[in-house]
Amino acid sequence: MIKMNPKETEKLFNEGVSMKSNCNLCKEACYEIGKNTGYGTIIYRIGNAKNGWFATLSPKTGGNPKLDFTIQLMPLLHLTHFSQVESYHGLGKNFGAAFSKICRAMTAILMDNENSKADSEKKELSVPIATYGKCTTWKEKKEHLHIKIFPFRNAIGQPYTVDSSFEKKEVFKEKNGKEFVKMEPVKKAMIEAKRFNQLAKELIGILKVK
Ligand SMILES: [Zn+2]
Repeated sequence: MIKMNPKETEKLFNEGVSMKSNCNLCKEACYEIGKNTGYGTIIYRIGNAKNGWFATLSPKTGGNPKLDFTIQLMPLLHLTHFSQVESYHGLGKNFGAAFSKICRAMTAILMDNENSKADSEKKELSVPIATYGKCTTWKEKKEHLHIKIFPFRNAIGQPYTVDSSFEKKEVFKEKNGKEFVKMEPVKKAMIEAKRFNQLAKELIGILKVK
């Protein structure tokens, strides 16, 4: 049996989640589908003010700007920790629905653009999709929850620390004996406006189908 510290767990699970005036994502949460927030474009909304999520298409990608793109999924409320999702009725359910719909829309677009296969012998014809998100209770680093969904390949397809393939990477040593592994640098590039607008339109079209 886990010994819960009710004072701290309750404090975290029921933390204030109302709109924060200094939070960009709280501001973005007010925009309608199709609107550019000044950074990305809103492509999807689900649920109501308390159990809703919204998604944006990011203008930049760490992958190939001609083929790749990143979608960011966020709760409308200013949640800062995954453990808080359970506090709002329907928020978990809507997350599942949003996540699966977005992954499906991304897959449909990638497959259409690249003629990729459902069960490919070749890596080049596969549809690699990854998700990344993190949270902490460290005050300095607390931020509005956001989960990225993107095709993992090239520079952003390198093994991550939790992958067993990361552990298998060749280990080098600095002069002082400290160990390190090599990684390719990631350079984020803007997606060209014409492609960005086309992608946003396609995603909105696919995602609005119930
Ligand atoms: Zn916020």
